[in-house]
Amino acid sequence: MSTFEALGLEETLLQAIADLGFTAPSEVQEKAIPILLGSETDLVALAQTGTGKTAAFGFPMIQKIDAGSRRTQGLIISPTRELCLQITNELKLYSKYVKGFNTVAIYGGASITDQARQIKKGAQVVVATPGRMKDMINRGMVDITQIDYCVLDEADEMLNMGFYEDIKDILSNTPEEKSTWLFSATMPKEVAAIAKKFMAKPQEITVGAKNSGASTVAHEYYMVSGRDRYPALKRLADANPGIFSVVFCRTKRDTQKVAEKLIEDGYNAGALHGDLSQNQRDLIMNAFRKKQISMLVATDVAARGIDVDDITHVINYQLPDDIETYNHRSGRTGRAGKSGISMVIVTKSEMRRIHAIERIIKQKFAQKKIPTGIEICE
Ligand code: ADP
Ligand code: MG
Repeated sequence: MSTFEALGLEETLLQAIADLGFTAPSEVQEKAIPILLGSETDLVALAQTGTGKTAAFGFPMIQKIDAGSRRTQGLIISPTRELCLQITNELKLYSKYVKGFNTVAIYGGASITDQARQIKKGAQVVVATPGRMKDMINRGMVDITQIDYCVLDEADEMLNMGFYEDIKDILSNTPEEKSTWLFSATMPKEVAAIAKKFMAKPQEITVGAKNSGASTVAHEYYMVSGRDRYPALKRLADANPGIFSVVFCRTKRDTQKVAEKLIEDGYNAGALHGDLSQNQRDLIMNAFRKKQISMLVATDVAARGIDVDDITHVINYQLPDDIETYNHRSGRTGRAGKSGISMVIVTKSEMRRIHAIERIIKQKFAQKKIPTGIEICE
């Protein structure tokens, strides 16, 4: 097994890594870090959620940028505000012994002038959502014409969310000579197209099987009639007393409705979706991280890439439209080598989709019965 030191990281970073308690690099880190620390190159890295991609690009970027200069040198584009905040927080931890290093998160729903001011004060690394970044470029609030590094994080998610045009516009404002590092869980053709269009002979690394979910996750389905979805959800919660879960719904409306019903019925639940204000979303996420909420009811968009440890169950209250989204949902649990359960509440007519998922994730679902017995919260 390799060490962070052997990968070529500097003392300042090694100290921070020791503080974080990371004992050895993950596979994607082991493969990506030496490449990115070496001579300038473009990179395409494919690795599932929870494999440590943030540090795989974060460490090399911090080491390579000049913290003595206040010029913006690195741009990280990431699909959601939650992820932007998560990445900047991680970068701050990684760089705690690097004097002068500064990073800002740029995302919608917060004051754009405040964010522009923060960049002006000097941030070598800007972490941005595509939409807000484009806005800032159009208003002349940020200069990315001199950057050396551009990371496209969760590239498949960003393209799924329809950010292709924004990404194209952003990249066309960056210099030709930079290095582009693309990180993605999967490689659909849209991602391949981006790589082809914007990258020069990228090196490629793949960790684990392409398009398959983490094997530490057990998949279960519970067949119910459509109107029994909600009672089934409550029983699943009652039957799993230590549950710490994300419950996925398809629409913002259902998300809000299910969360409200759960709260009414006495569960520690909260809703996370795009109709909430930034402040409300931050409050919910903080409560969830602190485990004051044990059931976070969320839309796919709101929950993208959220990295909360120890999630015991992912509950698909409704199946998503596509299999990649299912992969991303179930990847919220079973992280960092821990085990997790991904439960799906289905109706009979949806069984074909279960079988389609099984073929892609190369894992079988266990058919389970909704537990009966004492209902704790009724
Ligand atoms: P990804 O972007 O691949 O989904 P993250 O970068 O969010 O994964 O990392 C997932 C979790 O694993 C985070 O909590 C992170 O702090 C932790 N982690 C990352 N690298 C290591 C490591 N080498 N050892 C232990 N934990 C790690
Ligand atoms: Mg990530």
